Amino acid sequence: MKRRTCLGLAFALLGTASMAQQAYPSKPIKLLVPFAPGGTTDIIARVIADPLSRELGQPVIVENKGGGGGVIGAQETARSAPDGYSLGIATVSTTATNPAINPKIPYNTLTDFTPVINIAATPNVLAVNPKFGPTDYKSFEDKVKNSKGEFSYASSGTGGIQHMLMELYKNLTGTFITHIPYRGAGPALSDTVSGQVPMILDNLPSALPFIKDRRLLPIAVAAPERLAVLPDVPTFKEVGLEPVNRMAFYGILGPKGMQPEVVEKINVAVKKVLQDPAVRQRIEDTGSLVVGNSPAEFADQIKNEYEVYRKVVQDQKLTLE
Ligand code: GLU
Repeated sequence: MKRRTCLGLAFALLGTASMAQQAYPSKPIKLLVPFAPGGTTDIIARVIADPLSRELGQPVIVENKGGGGGVIGAQETARSAPDGYSLGIATVSTTATNPAINPKIPYNTLTDFTPVINIAATPNVLAVNPKFGPTDYKSFEDKVKNSKGEFSYASSGTGGIQHMLMELYKNLTGTFITHIPYRGAGPALSDTVSGQVPMILDNLPSALPFIKDRRLLPIAVAAPERLAVLPDVPTFKEVGLEPVNRMAFYGILGPKGMQPEVVEKINVAVKKVLQDPAVRQRIEDTGSLVVGNSPAEFADQIKNEYEVYRKVVQDQKLTLE
């Protein structure tokens, strides 16, 4: 009797799960970008949203909520209902660098989210306003090393990868440059291009159009090898700064507790979108690499990246002050 009840319950649960899978999605899905418009998070989200809407048969609506190096938006995703209708873009800033450096982080990056898929990996680039002067890495380093702290750099927000890598750069080269955080790389870039701030270490997709127009000059890139789009620009590794040579990533996650069937459905839909040559081309044109992995692989990547930055923070004694 007891056994029958258990079996009955198991079938009922299975039934609910497959119904959820079939019914999902039955209304629009929110895709939260935890940074201002114009940054790489926004660019990747908007490349994916339309084809994903077509694939899932429901609108995927991109919503920007910048601030706090991505923490404010990521916290909103962590606290939303785990029904598959509130998703967010996961970045290295929200899932790894900020959790590693920010003691007041309002979520646990390893337990408060359901990772769904990593969409793309992107190189980073240190770029300067042309009026700043240096046009190559050596003259850049000479200029900042000989400064008395009068220069500043723009970043996508406190505790994000742009802040983290620049602080690491400063530690390794013994320089002082003042940090100016923005609500995302979009506004940070605008001020660098207009000359309010002389430099930025940005994710490549948002900086590349300005570099192509020569409104920003590239000084060094963080990527395993030199980039085909910027063949004359050295990697940080080449200039002896391997720890700064780290890429960023952009994926999709939801709050913890999402149904595996729904996670699978979104994962399969995004993978299909990423197989479309036109979508791949749009991502690759930004200088990014298409990823498209499994939820478990993405969860591992987040964990590994978080551990890497925890070690960087400890070894370099980095703080948010
Ligand atoms: N993860 C990116 C960073 O912090 C986001 C930048 C942005 O999209 O504004 O560098």
